[in-house]
This record gives sequence, C-alpha cells and structure tokens, in this order.
Amino acid sequence: MSIIHKHPQKSRAKCPKCGGNSLLIMETITATTSVQVINGVLSKNTYNNEYGNVLYVEGECLQCRHTWRFRKIGSMNGLFE
Ligand SMILES: [Zn+2]
Repeated sequence: MSIIHKHPQKSRAKCPKCGGNSLLIMETITATTSVQVINGVLSKNTYNNEYGNVLYVEGECLQCRHTWRFRKIGSMNGLFE
C-alpha cells in the first residue's frame, strides 16, 4: 500500500501512446488472509489479513484509454517526485 503523502505529488508518468499525463494508476499487490483452526474448530479472533509485495503497476490513459504496465518501478511511489 503506497498512498503518497508528499506534496505537490507531481507525477513523472506519461501515456506511452499519446504522451498524455492524466492517468488512472493501479497498483496490484498480494494479500494473505489466515485463520487458526484448533482441534477442528475455527478459533475466534484469529482472522488476520496482511498485505504483501507489489505484483505490478498499471496505467490507463484518461485521454486515449491506452493501458500498459510500468516495468521499471517497484511500486507506484516510484512514479512521483
Ligand atoms: Zn494516451
């Protein structure tokens, strides 16, 4: 999860097709949900949910609707100055 709190949050990302810089940026990450089962019974309050690695970051151009994957960044944080 990488919500950016810096300001002014200027993005270096551009559409590779039309050069537009109005984009939808999507970061997809792994999530693991676990529970404990003791003697065959689901234990109360053992539900756990953890976010893991970034799988990929994708962009969609709001101008021409082209979609692509950003390949040289580890997370969407890498798109912002
Ligand atoms: Zn475009």
